[in-house]
Formats: sequence, structure tokens, C-alpha cells
Amino acid sequence: MQADNVEVFEVAKGFLSLVAKENILAGSFLADVWGPVVSQATPYTIQVDVNKHVDPVGPLKRTNHSCYPNAKFVYEPRLKEDEIMGFDKNHKIFWQLVATRDIKKGEDITFDYTTTEYEMARAFKCLCGVANCLGEVKGFKFLSPKEKVRREKELSPMQADNVEVVEVTKGFLSLVAKENILAGSFLADVWGPVVSQATPYTIQVDVNKHVDPVGPLKRTNHSCNPNAKFVYEPRLKEDEIMGFDKDHKIFWHLVATRDIKKGEDITFDYTTTEYEMAGVFNCLCGMENCLGEVKGFKFLSAEEKVQREKELSPVMRKLSNSLI
Ligand SMILES: [Zn+2]
Ligand SMILES: [Zn+2]
Repeated sequence: MQADNVEVFEVAKGFLSLVAKENILAGSFLADVWGPVVSQATPYTIQVDVNKHVDPVGPLKRTNHSCYPNAKFVYEPRLKEDEIMGFDKNHKIFWQLVATRDIKKGEDITFDYTTTEYEMARAFKCLCGVANCLGEVKGFKFLSPKEKVRREKELSPMQADNVEVVEVTKGFLSLVAKENILAGSFLADVWGPVVSQATPYTIQVDVNKHVDPVGPLKRTNHSCNPNAKFVYEPRLKEDEIMGFDKDHKIFWHLVATRDIKKGEDITFDYTTTEYEMAGVFNCLCGMENCLGEVKGFKFLSAEEKVQREKELSPVMRKLSNSLI
């Protein structure tokens, strides 16, 4: 009832923490919330209803708080009690903990206690050190109106629930539709640290500025006949997100351009954002209009450029205009 890639670890004398055993992708399952239900909160319980708290069995007991967490709850059970052989009838299964962003091997897994605890059984001083750190963590009840609004946004993740990163063949990851998706649907925000050098994973957001995307955008592959494209404006504001890391920025967002079937790869056309690709590759999309070798917008024929005109990023327009 927990993922293989997490373990409880004594990070300092007497201080246990749930830690990533390997690199973990955003959206990954981490642990189920389950255990006996008690009526009184303790520093370890998680509130599941009015006067109902689960005393979690397993790693959730050792998952610490952060004001800029890397995990959050999906508020539905992953497993059904009656499907588990000999499941103790005094225990119940509630929600599941999932990664909200890519987590590096050795990093602590954290969630924001004020998203589940109305009044903490025991207030404590948070030492997470992020820009919007609460300091004393007392529970949702004690937050300022602004802090409460930030948490509402935080509960709406930076990627849609209906997409996930899947290893489609050995070592090859792809963003895939978990269910049927309608044209126009939001898929994922484009956000992360900004770097001056392009890599095969970055997305060019301005002249000499490339975002190294956090989460599923890193695993969204190219197609010459894609089913997604960027809306060139941010969906969320950085200052509306609780504890948003000041070294990260939010740029555009990815939306579906047509209905996408469950199991289908989500793709966009890399030449709409990359002027010169850091990693040239051979496209295998097999479409009639396939570019073959994908090198960047700069290397397209005049006709191919015109075909992409409507979908071009602002920086692509800037770069191509300045050179005409
Ligand atoms: Zn904090
Ligand atoms: Zn192609």
C-alpha cells in the first residue's frame, strides 16, 4: 500500500521522514492513506471527516509538512477494502498521496498539513524556509484569507487529472491520456526554472531563455500532426500559488487541439517553439507531412513555416521576423 520508490528513513537522530529511493515523476502514486479511525486528532492523524481522523498505518505517519510540498492527496481511494485479502475490518482506506512534481532521489516527500488539518492537534514551527512559509503551522482555520485562497489553487494541480507520464517502451516515457479528453481541454502548465542554454527537454520562452519544464511537459513528445498546442499565456499566477519557488516561473499552458482517446500519446509540434533544436532527432510520426529530421523552425521550408504560422510562439515570431 505504498510505492516501491519511497521509504521511511531516519534523516536526523530520532527524526523520521518519508524519502524518495529513486527519481520520481510528477503524478506518481506514493502511498495509500489507511488505518483505524479515531475521534481525537493526534500529531500523526489525518482528518478525514468531522470528528473523524485516520491514524495512518505506514509511511504517511512519517510524511512531514512543507509550505512548498512535492506531494498532495487525491481525495479518493486507490484500492477497495473488500478487494484486499483479509483486510482488517477495524481499518479503512481513504485517499492516496501522489507527487505534484518530479522528486529527486533522496528528497523528502512532503505535503501541506493545512490542506487536511483544520486545527492541528499540536502546532509546530515550520523550518521549510520557502518565501511563503507559514512559520507556525496551526491548521487551515488559522490561515489568512490570502493563504486560504492560495491553498485552493494549490489543490488544483499544474497538470490535468486525465493525463499521466507512462513508460511506453523500455526507457521511453510519454505523456498519455488516462481517459478520453475533449478538444480544448487544459493538459499541463509550462513552468520551471529558466536557463540560457537549450537542452533536448527545454522549451524556448524568449531569446536566450528556455524553461526546463517541471512535470509532464518534459515527457511530451513531438508529432508533425499533433493533438495539443500551447496557449501562449499563463493559466495560473505565481503569487497565487502557496510557497511557489521563486527560482521557478510559470509561462504558457498546453491544451488539446482535438478529441484525444484514452491511451493516446499527447504530442505537440516542437518546431512551433524551438528555433534551433538542442537535440536534432528523426521523427517517426509517420504522417504524410512528417518533417523527417526535426531541427527547429529555422530549418523549415517556406511552405512549412507558413503552415505553422498560426501556432507559433511569440518568440518564434520575434526571431523569424528579425531575420526576414
Ligand atoms: Zn514552511
Ligand atoms: Zn513527423
